[in-house]
Amino acid sequence: MTKWYMVENEARHMQQVVLCLPPEDQVPSRVTGSLIHGAGLMRQQWAGVTLFMDGETPEQSGPFVFSKANNVVDLIEGRPTKVAFSFYHFRSGGVLQIFVYVDSPEVKARAGYPFITENTHWPENEDTKKLIPALLDRQDLDVCFVADTQSAPCRGQFGLRVTIPDDCRVALKSQWEALQKHHFGIPASQRSRQGAMRQFESENPMEENPVLDQPCPACSGKGKSECEQCGGKGYLDECNACHGDETISCTCEQGETQCPECAGSGQKALLFGLLKPACKRCAGTGRIIHADCQGKGVVTCTKCSGKGMVDPCPACSTKGSRTCAECAGTGRM
Ligand SMILES: [Zn+2]
Ligand SMILES: [Zn+2]
Ligand SMILES: [Zn+2]
Ligand SMILES: [Zn+2]
Ligand SMILES: [Zn+2]
Repeated sequence: MTKWYMVENEARHMQQVVLCLPPEDQVPSRVTGSLIHGAGLMRQQWAGVTLFMDGETPEQSGPFVFSKANNVVDLIEGRPTKVAFSFYHFRSGGVLQIFVYVDSPEVKARAGYPFITENTHWPENEDTKKLIPALLDRQDLDVCFVADTQSAPCRGQFGLRVTIPDDCRVALKSQWEALQKHHFGIPASQRSRQGAMRQFESENPMEENPVLDQPCPACSGKGKSECEQCGGKGYLDECNACHGDETISCTCEQGETQCPECAGSGQKALLFGLLKPACKRCAGTGRIIHADCQGKGVVTCTKCSGKGMVDPCPACSTKGSRTCAECAGTGRM
């Protein structure tokens, strides 16, 4: 059964469906001679394209995903490969990028970056309207690696073929539908392929792999899980002094206390039959703001130091969460 997963990245405005193609699924190249295509593919060292081929049955005619891998064929053959369908919901349109990524440390060591080819699909493009539904209808996903040789350009090298699982196909089709809905929901005058690609470039820095890892199923990618011993609270019991309020009422009267200067009279005393001016400290009110509670009428509960809870949870040392053991806190598989 082909392994696949879905991952979402809000910052990149992206939903990604990733199929894993293990080296065991290698097949002989479908391209027996040269794959002749547009200048872009012919000129570049690494490049991707999705194409129909001549043939009568869907099995023969595709479409197939091609990946041009000049100078690295020996380093990517026999390596785990991923094909990522990335659905980008950009301001000026929807973009589907099909990435072919080969996990080859040797390529990374030699080139400084991993082996990735991409090809871009713009929903209102006539080719795309035929190509993508046909690609998603196929039973198999076929990736063909080509490379320039001394004898001919873009010569077939080897292929990888996997069956698209039914649930994966459903996910791909619904993502493609959602992308079209997003795209055609934008007024035609505001759609811009250049604008969408500018957004893609600004949100996908070159040094970050656009093909995301599978989120850890145990923690849903968060890298930690709620501590089951304390239910995420970090403490085992509610404080019985403040009952979780974190504060208790102050001994004063609603934040105020009697003025010590005038003993609450607001005045000092009669002197030679005359009333002395009103107490300056309390401006004659006889009451001052209580310093202990700064007039709030409540003070921090001393029993729980204002946490509302007592008995620190030994399992999580009051953090309320624990590092996910499945992924060692990385959130990724
Ligand atoms: Zn995890
Ligand atoms: Zn308390
Ligand atoms: Zn007080
Ligand atoms: Zn006073
Ligand atoms: Zn805990």
